[in-house]
Amino acid sequence: MGVKIIEQSESAYSYPLLIKSLLGNSLVRSPDQEIIYRDQMRYTYRDFHKRVAQLANGLEQLGVKQGDTVAVMDYDSHRYLECYFAVPMMGAVLHTVHIRLSPEQLLYTINHAEDDVILVNSELVPLLEPIMDKIETVKKIVLIRENGEDPKTAIEFATDYETLLCDQKPTYDFPDFDENARATTFYTSGTTGNPKGVYFSHRQIVLHTFGLMTGLCAYDSQAVMTSKDVYMPLTPMFHVHAWGMPYLFTMLGNRQVYPGRYEPAMILKLVTTEKVTFSHCVPTIIHMLVNSPVMETTDLSAWKVVIGGSALPRGLCAAALKAKINLYSAYGMSETCPLLTIAHIKPHMVDWDEEKLIDIRCKTGLPIPLVDIEIIDPMGKPVAHDGVQTGEVVTRTPWLTQGYLKNPEKSEELWEGGWLHTGDVGNIDPEGYLKITDRLKDVIKTGGEWVSSLELEDIASRHPAVSEAAAIGIPDDKWGERPIVLVVLQAAYKDKDLGDELKQMFVTQHEEGNLPKYGIPDKIIFTDAIAKTGVGKLDKKVIRTQYK
Ligand code: AMP
Repeated sequence: MGVKIIEQSESAYSYPLLIKSLLGNSLVRSPDQEIIYRDQMRYTYRDFHKRVAQLANGLEQLGVKQGDTVAVMDYDSHRYLECYFAVPMMGAVLHTVHIRLSPEQLLYTINHAEDDVILVNSELVPLLEPIMDKIETVKKIVLIRENGEDPKTAIEFATDYETLLCDQKPTYDFPDFDENARATTFYTSGTTGNPKGVYFSHRQIVLHTFGLMTGLCAYDSQAVMTSKDVYMPLTPMFHVHAWGMPYLFTMLGNRQVYPGRYEPAMILKLVTTEKVTFSHCVPTIIHMLVNSPVMETTDLSAWKVVIGGSALPRGLCAAALKAKINLYSAYGMSETCPLLTIAHIKPHMVDWDEEKLIDIRCKTGLPIPLVDIEIIDPMGKPVAHDGVQTGEVVTRTPWLTQGYLKNPEKSEELWEGGWLHTGDVGNIDPEGYLKITDRLKDVIKTGGEWVSSLELEDIASRHPAVSEAAAIGIPDDKWGERPIVLVVLQAAYKDKDLGDELKQMFVTQHEEGNLPKYGIPDKIIFTDAIAKTGVGKLDKKVIRTQYK
């Protein structure tokens, strides 16, 4: 039987889900609430609304029209937030440029996205210089002065950001248009080939914002966000719209703090002086903070931090909880806008002992409403949710990218069988928690068994001397691959010989039935640093090349 379509009155307004609908409420509820940039400036939502309109007027005067692409190269700032709204609300596309790509990749993304205008922070101008003469579609470049300084460069700027805004009208009649219009584009650095462009529509961003709100703000759990929270992002705003959080907290009219370039002392200062209560970051950032000397004298007991982008190692979670940070993980990827799951502690678990609760905080989490997640076997069949059977994680939600920009082949692969393929391996337990055990590409395949590299890293992280760990498979004639673990020790343990002690931890895990025999690493290699990607994740591709 077909699905019945409800008839609609001819004159009914067919409300499009546009980013502009996220903006209005903050002016009604909290016009005097503040948005803060480092220790440099603060203004109210009244000012913010005016500046968004002024930016749209300024860009229009520069020649930007619907369908054009405006690229931004900046640190996490109030200016970036203004662009998050003004650019898509005009009907243009916001390209949040990945500023940590190699010069060739940066050039590729600017040309591939067909940027018309670039807004660039003065400190990032040196990234543009070597590629300027190969940029194809950009007509105007606008300078964002950081610290009021002009960079020494031959690049000609059309104007600077504050001048662009200053004489403009503080209102703009943002138009209605199709909610499926593209709002944003950004690039993910894959393991091979050129970066892939991911894009999101207005409708997807609006629905993601509401999904995020339900996930973060509605459940009785260890951390419930409200409009009273003070928000500060610690993931770059070029990466998946800082997980979409700026859209949520602007919609709610929260106090927001933008940290600019990430510096531990500045971050910790802002957390305490501005009384930040909520942030999100990759494990590397929290690792950097937990090991910062300033930490000892800083009270972080009101700070809730969501960890994503990589698995949260148990040892790091325990160290952060000891520092009184309310830390827990969430999961998603560039292609998923990103949020899919949050590691909430369910009400019946709150009396569990701390160790068991750390297990929950480090799980990959429970799906938020509207997120369907399945684990499939190699034949594409869903496996049981018994916490044991693993397979590829696939998903459907209304806010997943429809494909890769101008790349139909990869888009088909991504959506094979009508589900978005995450490329992650995991399982779902009877309580409904997803646990990512690896990236498909990072699983260590040894002697016919699959060993989770994340599991090995997690075991190593439990030793108090271990600061960071990375596990990879190295080629082996007999077994296909064999696991090795790289370890960075805490400063106080640098001269200690801990090889046997660490190895014993893996043997014990095997004896207790938590690790297959083949999973016991052949080697533990002590090193001073482990390679990271541009967004601070372990760079397994580089590590594999280094140790192969
Ligand atoms: P990206 O697209 O760069 O944001 O990377 C997304 C990938 O990061 C996912 O496909 C996962 O492999 C990994 N990831 C993100 N969050 C988690 C998490 N909580 N636990 C384990 N892996 C994660």
